Order: sequence, then structure tokens, then C-alpha cells
Amino acid sequence: MGVDVLSYYHYGTQATNQAGHLSIGGVDTLALAHEYGTPLIVYDVALIKQRIAEFKQVFEEAGVAYKVTYASKAFTAIAMYQLLAEQGVGCDVVSGGEIYTAQQAGFPLANASFHGNNKTAAELEYALTAGVGTIVLDNFHEIDLLNDILTRHEQSIDVLLRIAPGISAHTHEYIMTGQEDSKFGFDLKSGQATQAFEKVQALPRLNLRGVHCHIGSQIFETNGFEMAATAMIDLLVQWAQTGFTAEVLNLGGGFGVRYTAADQPLAPQEYVRDIVKVVKQQAAAAKLPLPEIWIEPGRSMVAEAGTSLYTIGSRKDLPGIRHYVAVDGGMGDNIRPALYEAKYSAVLANAPEAEPVETVSIAGKYCESGDMLLWDLPLPQSQPGDVLAMFVTGAYGYSMASNYNRNPRPAVVFVENGAARLIIKRETYADMAQLDVNESPSHL
Ligand SMILES: *Cc1c(COP(=O)(O)O)cnc(C)c1O
Repeated sequence: MGVDVLSYYHYGTQATNQAGHLSIGGVDTLALAHEYGTPLIVYDVALIKQRIAEFKQVFEEAGVAYKVTYASKAFTAIAMYQLLAEQGVGCDVVSGGEIYTAQQAGFPLANASFHGNNKTAAELEYALTAGVGTIVLDNFHEIDLLNDILTRHEQSIDVLLRIAPGISAHTHEYIMTGQEDSKFGFDLKSGQATQAFEKVQALPRLNLRGVHCHIGSQIFETNGFEMAATAMIDLLVQWAQTGFTAEVLNLGGGFGVRYTAADQPLAPQEYVRDIVKVVKQQAAAAKLPLPEIWIEPGRSMVAEAGTSLYTIGSRKDLPGIRHYVAVDGGMGDNIRPALYEAKYSAVLANAPEAEPVETVSIAGKYCESGDMLLWDLPLPQSQPGDVLAMFVTGAYGYSMASNYNRNPRPAVVFVENGAARLIIKRETYADMAQLDVNESPSHL
């Protein structure tokens, strides 16, 4: 069969239960679909905890100071911030809305880093009053803006400088962020990075703790990270000549995951093992005190833990061309196939290991021809009402969800040890209309 079929089972606690159904976290996915409705996004909490433990273990074994900060943008919710806090990991936030959600969750914001290429004055003010620990400075405008706000508040704050090291990681163009021609960070080659360093050093309210870079996403090879680490150490060696000692070297996220059998990434922690090794070697060779190493995994922490459940509805057969099978979700709950041509794999939840008998393409229900979730999926015979389970939808799915066509955003559940917990309710029609100003003309 085609490369889109996964051999059973690759992710976390997925299993076929005694009823012959797909179960996750010891919970029957058909029972979840019945109780919470579809589309539904199911997170395997044990797998998220396992990823966190694996990342930490690499640093503990290497005996280096570190911080794991989860990139909230991959998926977040109050329950997610609470899980992170409970597991002792920090987070990255990129907007006032993420800061607000973390605050509502009781997340210790001293353990948060604020990223973004155009943080507004209002967002920076909010970050200060909320107690966000670190601001990752992205551009010259922001240095001035933050310094003005700090002066007004008579405060100071820890900062890192985001460097664009000019390294292109091999991945889809739209999710590439470390190459020279990027909107993010201070360019290394043209000297902007050192200019920013000098500027920040002259501003006592900005407590420069080190540097940051993030070279891309869904990266499968270690050499990009090695090149980035080397470039950053070289930069710190240069700055050390002015008497500056970096306390933090943040090498970002981007560790690849396995969406289909065609993807062959390393285990997420292996990228980190390699990064730690290279940083240690290079720092020792340059006689540089070893900084704390920070990483910011987003996708690799949650993607594989997420499974989307959909109910199959209509079907259109074009003999010799294609069989379209439509589900009750699509680009509103997962834009990645339409946006990035992202590939996925899926099974029937009532017969996950049954032999495929046909090749179908899974269509969404939105009014766009491009609203296709999966092309050429080998599947057993399906009926309207069957539940389709699409794997590895935990990152950049719900977080990019929209109300296109005024379809409600799905519900989200956490499953663990045989129990399910609703963490985001399904949106209602009323939720979607609640911001509309309804001034009925008097003639109606
Ligand atoms: C998106 C992002 C991450 C996380 O990337 P993943 O590919 O999800 O691991 C980390 N750091 C920064 C600055 C980001 O923008």
C-alpha cells in the first residue's frame, strides 16, 4: 500500500481496543465522538508529558543548565498552560492574547519569553505588568519602544536579541524563518546584530542575557542546527571581546515530526542531544563560559499527541479519476493541507487495522475547492456516519482554526489513563454571532 499508511501504532498510547476500535489514552475514540461530537481534537496527555521528559533528560544527562520553553502558538489553551506549569516547562508567547490565556491559567509568567516581529506598545506594556520574564528583541524599533516604556514604568527587564543567522533549513518556504531574507530578527552578516548589541548595552533598563535564533520548522536534519549553533557561538566570542558574557543561548525549535510514513525524522530529543554536543564543543574550543541552553519546541511537543475525529458524510465518485469522501470539518479546523500542502494519514476509528479496499481523497465541508484534508488515502469501505481519525493534528491545527463559512470551531479533549476531560468547548452559533452588532432597522 501507499506511503500514507502507518504501520500500527506509532504515536503514544494509540491502540486497538477489545471492541476493535481505535483508542487513545485508554479511551475509545468512537465513545469520544459520541459524547463530544465531531470534529473533535483529542490530545494524548501522556505523550506530551513523555516529550517534555525526553527533552529534559538530554540536558540532565549532559549536565548543562537549560530551559525548555514550549512555543504556545503550536497549540494553546488554559489547560495546556496548566499542563506546562505542572511539568515545569516555560513557554513562548507571541501576542497579548497568549499572555492573557497564560495569566488566566495561573501560569508563572516569569517563565515566559515574549517573541514577535511587531509587538505593539500595548502588548509590551501588558507583558511588563503581567510579569513576563524575558522579551526577545526582534528589531531596532522595538528596542526604542521597550526602553521608552521601561523608562516610564521605572522598570528593567531581561532581554535576548533575536539573530537571523542566515541559515536556510530544508523545509517548506512558508515555514522557513532563519534565512537572510526574513522578516524576523537582526541580520548577522550585515552587522545589524552587533549594532543591536551595542545599542542594547548602552541601555541599562535592558538586561541583555544572551541571544536567540530559530531557523525554521519541521526540520529533519541536524546540520542546520549545528550551523546555527556555530554561528551564534562565533558571535558571542566576538562580543566577549567587549567584556560581555552571555548567560543564555536560545536555539529555538523546529524539530521535525512524522506526519506520514514518508517522514523519517530523528526522535525529537536527538536534535537537542546534537545541539548540546555542538554548543559544548564550540564553547570549550573558544574558551567561552558555557551559557544556559534554551530550546523552544512547539510542533514536536504536541503534533503527534493530537488526533482529529471527523464524521464521514457525502461521497462523490468520479470513475477512473477520484473518489471524494467528505467529512464534517476541514480547513476551518486544519488549514495546513490547504496552506502548506501538508500531508497526513488517517484510519477508520471503528476498524483502524482493516485492510484498505480503495483509495479515496478526504474533502472538507468548506466552500473552497482547495479544502481537501488528504489526497489518495487507502481506506477500507466507509459509510456515512463512520468516524475518521486523522493522526498528528496536534500542532498548528486548532491554533490556526477559523470560523470560515461560520462553521463553529471544534471541541478539544485531553485523554489520559482511561479518562477524557473537555478542555475547549465546541463553539456555538451564538458564540460566533456574539460580536456582531445587531441594530435592527426599525422597519423590520
Ligand atoms: C514557531 C516558533 C517556535 C516553534 O517552532 P516548532 O517548529 O513548532 O517547534 C520556536 N521559536 C520561535 C521563535 C518560533 O517562532
